[in-house]
Amino acid sequence: MIDLRSDTLTMPGREMLETILSAPLGDSGRTDSEARGCDPTVSRLEDMAAQLTGKERAIFLPSGTMGNLTALLTHCGPNDEVLIDTRQHLYRTEKAAFEPKFGQLKPVFYHLTPGGWPDTDEIETLLKTHPIKLLCVENTHNGAGGTVIPPEALEKIGELGRKYSVPVHMDGARLFNAAAASGLSAAEICRCADSVMFCISKGLGAPVGSMLCGSREFIIRANATRKLLGGSMRQAGVLAACGIYALEHQIPDLAEDHRRAKLCLDLLQGMKKLQVPERICSNIIIIGTEATGKTPAQVVDDLKKQGVWLSLSGDTCVRIVLCRDRTDEEVRKAAEIIRSYDAAL
Ligand SMILES: *Cc1c(COP(=O)(O)O)cnc(C)c1O
Repeated sequence: MIDLRSDTLTMPGREMLETILSAPLGDSGRTDSEARGCDPTVSRLEDMAAQLTGKERAIFLPSGTMGNLTALLTHCGPNDEVLIDTRQHLYRTEKAAFEPKFGQLKPVFYHLTPGGWPDTDEIETLLKTHPIKLLCVENTHNGAGGTVIPPEALEKIGELGRKYSVPVHMDGARLFNAAAASGLSAAEICRCADSVMFCISKGLGAPVGSMLCGSREFIIRANATRKLLGGSMRQAGVLAACGIYALEHQIPDLAEDHRRAKLCLDLLQGMKKLQVPERICSNIIIIGTEATGKTPAQVVDDLKKQGVWLSLSGDTCVRIVLCRDRTDEEVRKAAEIIRSYDAAL
């Protein structure tokens, strides 16, 4: 089976796992007034994350979902209006911040440009007409096909945040994919954001965890939110050690994932019914299934029987995601299977 469902499938390698054995550990959930825990390995990972994103501080959390939720509930309170795009992960998949039973935040929607990044003109109009408390952007954008926010749009987002005194949160689950794709550093990309979450558990290849980064003052408050949500962990250095290994060794490999995704896209061009985009920015290819006369779930089922496993994306699409541990050979084989499936439709 060639499994192309997600970059969450990455497995920790032996060298990464061996770093756990020598990692100094402590109780990272026991934090001081500066939100620093007692696990030196977690603290080291947090310092690395802060440095890489150009922020003062960072905290380690068990998931990206909790990282985003912690950020939103730290920036906002019940009934606050939050600007997000209609396809954003933290609305479509995560929800808790906006649930009447949980965070009670009110979403106000902007749209993405045809290129797949935030429409800053629309954002400005909404900032003028609503008492917005937070602006959320996603980079790279999962639902839009791994699109990257270009430098001018990042600049504009930062400018709007300052002009309207609205903090900006970046869901950077794939922040380092955005960096690899744009040639900007993670810190340059994050300059427009007051807080940023990134996952170490996706393309970077660590088994578990996400980082939330921001100012010292924000992180101290976010630490209290994390505790409320049950996200304080104990000897989490066993996880953080893998994150440190990922950040030290595996960031450059993301460019390979992007190359392999482009190879895959090239091999899939010009199919009859399955619709692929002309170009992609990073490691995600979203494929339209509307012309097949089948549901996306059926397409996934059919292809799985033939040895390629894709995932669903939105209501009408399926998705290919490239990540470490996949080979060019597998990509060629998968493309061949998908092409012949399309030809027989
Ligand atoms: C995966 C993902 C998340 C959530 O991360 P988990 O670790 O799976 O909870 C948030 N935002 C985006 C864009 C993602 O792709």
